[in-house]
Amino acid sequence: MGPSDATTPVPLRVPPRGALHGVMVSRRVVVVGAGILGASLAARLAEAGLRVTLLDQDQPGCGTSRWSFAWINSNDKGPRPYHDLNHAGIRAWAELAPDLDGGAWYRPSGHVELAASGLESRVKRLTEWGYAARMVSPAEASELEPALRCPGPEAAFFPGEGYILTEPLIARLVAYAQGLDADVLTGEPGRVTGLEPGTPPRVRTAVGAVLEADEVICCAGRWTPALAEVPLVPWETEGSIAPGLIVRVGPVEPPGPVRVLHTPDLALRPHPGGLLHLEAEDAAAAVDLHTPEPELQRWAAELLDRARRTVRGLDRAQVVEYKVCARPLPVDGQSIVGRLPGAPGVYVAVTHSGVTLAAHLSRLITADLTTGTPPAPLTSYTPARFLPGNQ
Ligand SMILES: Cc1cc2nc3c(=O)[nH]c(=O)nc-3n(C[C@H](O)[C@H](O)[C@H](O)COP(=O)(O)OP(=O)(O)OC[C@H]3O[C@@H](n4cnc5c(N)ncnc54)[C@H](O)[C@@H]3O)c2cc1C
Repeated sequence: MGPSDATTPVPLRVPPRGALHGVMVSRRVVVVGAGILGASLAARLAEAGLRVTLLDQDQPGCGTSRWSFAWINSNDKGPRPYHDLNHAGIRAWAELAPDLDGGAWYRPSGHVELAASGLESRVKRLTEWGYAARMVSPAEASELEPALRCPGPEAAFFPGEGYILTEPLIARLVAYAQGLDADVLTGEPGRVTGLEPGTPPRVRTAVGAVLEADEVICCAGRWTPALAEVPLVPWETEGSIAPGLIVRVGPVEPPGPVRVLHTPDLALRPHPGGLLHLEAEDAAAAVDLHTPEPELQRWAAELLDRARRTVRGLDRAQVVEYKVCARPLPVDGQSIVGRLPGAPGVYVAVTHSGVTLAAHLSRLITADLTTGTPPAPLTSYTPARFLPGNQ
């Protein structure tokens, strides 16, 4: 990857250590958080020849990334630069897949959306922006997704979209980074209790260790505000919009759905183990981390009913698991990526749509850290935008 052109397609592959861009072999970075963002970044930084230590309080991939709908898309994201960032995110996964066992985690399935009305104007705008999208007839929607019971009245197809199986992906990213000599500490040794900005910045862990680095990159997802001052929507409070409800159902009898599918009252995609992953906007709006169990069970049963009405193959299906999981949600809805103002040595990367964005953001951040200059696509997303006077 050329440092000044982070958008050039370049696969992950093993370079001679420290040989890229004159990076000093001894430069040390600590990445806090091994979700999809931290794991992607650790792999890229290790590949660029930096000495990486990746820390997680849990096992890699057990945070929000594990429960995500994980739909890779830029279907309804604005303004235009944020759309373009997400569009590049989709391409970045396609570029990575051939070099990182993509068969295990990359699902470029396409996406079928059914709606009562209003699809046409979005499809038109997306097409004008160079995004693959087209209106389809109910008959074509049925051909594209044979498990569909009653397509229409409006349907659209987005062939460039798909989903990611985050758990096998993160396992591969972490193993790749370890293969390039990254250290990975999990559980209590990996739990960060404090970040101390400075030259060098220091990281304190729950077992009393103090790690010094040239740069600390905080990828702690929704937990970021406990370590670095960034404005996220509070996710633990009653009525918060950050949590969503995830329902996984199965078994799915063939031929089950093969694509990402949206209807006005349901989102679904295939999930490993012969399951479907279900979500719905009204369910997400109705629950938070305080919702009583019987209410969650009622919603889970409701989503299974909706899925049965939408697709074939669920006659014997039961709710296998359900979970309320909160998103890392910056207050303005857009990514926060860059050096933390007034905190030397501390860099943050926190975003919604992190599954769509992680492969691309990790390339951009690596370019920023190895050249000292943020690539153009990052300049709108720096934490400095929240400083008084910059808003
Ligand atoms: C219901 C739902 C649906 C979603 N749907 C989509 C979608 O369709 N498409 C999409 O692109 N995005 C979607 N998202 C958002 C996406 O899942 C997140 O943006 C993404 O998973 C964030 O990844 P991350 O690596 O930043 O955070 P996480 O995966 O949460 O990783 C953060 C890691 O940091 C660790 N950590 C935290 N604090 C500490 C500490 N003090 N010390 C050490 N480790 C620590 C955690 O253990 C965790 O492993 C959805 C999210 C939800 C909840």
